[in-house]
Amino acid sequence: MTEKSEPHGKWRPETLAIRAGVHRSAEKEHAEALFLTSSFVFDSAEEAAARFAGTSPGNIYARFTNPTVRALEERLAALEGAEDCVATASGMAACLTTFMGLLQAGDHIVASRSIFGSTIQLLQNILGRFGLETTFVALDDLAAWRRALRPNTRLLYLETPSNPLTEIGDISALAAMAREHGASLVVDNCFCTPVLQQPLALGADLVIHSNTKYLDGQGRTLGGAICGRKELLAGPRNFVRTAGPSLSPFNAWVQLKGLETLALRMERHSHNALELARWLEQREEVARVYFPGLASHPQQVLAERQQRLPGGILSFDLRGGQAAAWALMNAVEIFSRTANLGDAKSTITHPASTTHGRVSAEARAAAGIGDGLLRLSVGLEHVDDLRADLARGLEAAATAAASSGA
Ligand SMILES: *Cc1c(COP(=O)(O)O)cnc(C)c1O
Repeated sequence: MTEKSEPHGKWRPETLAIRAGVHRSAEKEHAEALFLTSSFVFDSAEEAAARFAGTSPGNIYARFTNPTVRALEERLAALEGAEDCVATASGMAACLTTFMGLLQAGDHIVASRSIFGSTIQLLQNILGRFGLETTFVALDDLAAWRRALRPNTRLLYLETPSNPLTEIGDISALAAMAREHGASLVVDNCFCTPVLQQPLALGADLVIHSNTKYLDGQGRTLGGAICGRKELLAGPRNFVRTAGPSLSPFNAWVQLKGLETLALRMERHSHNALELARWLEQREEVARVYFPGLASHPQQVLAERQQRLPGGILSFDLRGGQAAAWALMNAVEIFSRTANLGDAKSTITHPASTTHGRVSAEARAAAGIGDGLLRLSVGLEHVDDLRADLARGLEAAATAAASSGA
């Protein structure tokens, strides 16, 4: 049997990230236990029947429930200020579970066009085949969101800040629009985490996470989560239990450990990113820096209103185009050349040739993703070392731009 966790209504995020959802077993372990088991035993035939009938509480099978996974769900719910949370095997499984759990054939979705590439593929190429239609609109154009609404629009979907250009979506305004229309607003809060932004408090109905990113925080595991009202999560929870995109207890255990340092990490990610963004803005090789913490960001006021700190993701355009961008990427020694983000290790990505490579050149240009654009996920290394690494990269970029005549 497990002990009840403490009431935590008044705790702050720093405390919740460490203390929420702790249920000790009879062993009185201090750290969270890892229940690495796929099934659970019953004391008697009567007990088995009662568990299956739902008249006796308890675990049956790890596709349905597992105590380690439940501890993570409770902690994330507490952090997001949500009534409940459903964990999933990955961030994309959280997206799929949300759509499958809430919608049916004939329903319509309005989504920001600046969302994760796989989410766009899921909506267009997969769910489109099952009678769900999606209209994509510019994240910051409220009039376009309103124009896209149809009588059968059931869901509004966004990420803020967006990837890679850090545009900001107005969560309160879109929540009001959704409510007025009888639709639900779903926010992918992956870039901010609940430590920096709480979409539910701003009126959103559900929050989605890729636990793979900042929640794990050290690039070890895949996972996802959906947080919101219990009643709205009934469909998604039933989808996970039936269709099976359940989170592994091992991954949940790693992510619980990650959460203990979440608040500290998000502060340092934001601090390091702000310092690099300000420095990059002064460099002549750089045409433009995209970062919500800069005074030059067109939506800085909105970002400050809904985010506690600007976060750790920034992008910048190099004057020398692709030659300069690739030269910089190949010259850095600390930044990892990888598409992942939200890791203690800083990473660097060239969106035009990787994450957005399948998008046509015209569509990329229309979305503002140029050949000279680089995205950084600023990690937890010393900021002076990161700055020196980028300085070396910028010199290589300048040399490449000069020799390519850009
Ligand atoms: C990575 C990511 C996802 C998908 O998460 P996975 O864990 O890779 O499946 C969804 N949304 C955003 C914003 C992401 O960065």
